[in-house]
Amino acid sequence: MKIERIGVVGAGQMGNGIAHVCALAGYDVLLTDISEDALTAATAAIDKNMTRQVSKGLVSDDEKSEALRRIDTTLTLTDLGPTDLVIEAATERETVKQAIFDELLPHLTPDTILTSNTSSISITRLASRTDRPEKFMGFHFMNPVPIMQLVELIRGIATDTETFDACKGVVDRLGKISATAEDFPAFIVNRILMPMINEAVYALYEGVGNVESIDTSLKLGANHPMGPLELADFIGLDTCLAIMTVLHDGLSDTKYRPCPLLTKYVEAGWLGRKTKRGFYDYRGDTPVPTR
Ligand code: NAD
Repeated sequence: MKIERIGVVGAGQMGNGIAHVCALAGYDVLLTDISEDALTAATAAIDKNMTRQVSKGLVSDDEKSEALRRIDTTLTLTDLGPTDLVIEAATERETVKQAIFDELLPHLTPDTILTSNTSSISITRLASRTDRPEKFMGFHFMNPVPIMQLVELIRGIATDTETFDACKGVVDRLGKISATAEDFPAFIVNRILMPMINEAVYALYEGVGNVESIDTSLKLGANHPMGPLELADFIGLDTCLAIMTVLHDGLSDTKYRPCPLLTKYVEAGWLGRKTKRGFYDYRGDTPVPTR
């Protein structure tokens, strides 16, 4: 399976990063979103992030301009039909992802590999509703995509070896490292990371510490580069809540119950950095804890 053209669905923080690294690795990229503003913001973010890489000497000016030329955007999902690999990176909601696959499927070539960047949703279940479960798998990048080395590759129950090897080949060409995870809720990284973040929110909820003391404790006490609440804001609190809900529902264990305080922040629309308010308020020059 030769992969040259990659379609990316969803131009949020993950989608723009995925388009960025794929274009730098020489793939032609077609990026789509339902929101024109998201596409405009994604193009600007990619330009800005590549410029930062140029200033650090990681990428040359020519490589940057060539990569930017390889990225096209469209508001029409079905334009992705002729691509060799589709990486779906839209909002973490199963109904959203399912609707995207339903609309796209009749337009795909028989050989197109379909993947999802989902952080937690069952790959086997998403695959079973398509016409190509053997050509479907999880392709889970980490945030921020241009910086983080890992890609989790998740096989659904039906994923064939050819598909897995083709995706592994893409990860290699991106210069990233893959880890293989079985298809159980939230796979490896988020199965371990998200309960820790949720526990940090419980510690805040129960008054064990405030935002600053919880983040300082984990940074200096456990040598984490970011505190768990800072990290939650970076990931997006809606995404964190969605992943905890998938763990809770999928594993039927009360130890995964999402903290009510996390739900409250999401209901307030305080989703973290992307909305300028979460456990910290980002509207000023420096982030200010909100509790
Ligand atoms: P985001 O909210 O930044 O972006 C989601 C984008 O999807 C938005 O631009 C939205 O307009 C678009 N979208 C929604 N419905 C769509 C549709 N029907 N068609 C096309 N586009 C649509 O979210 P994100 O953080 O980029 O997360 C995207 C996916 O990546 C999720 O599945 C998430 O679980 C996964 N993920 C997120 C992280 C993280 O740290 N944020 C890390 C790894 C994986």
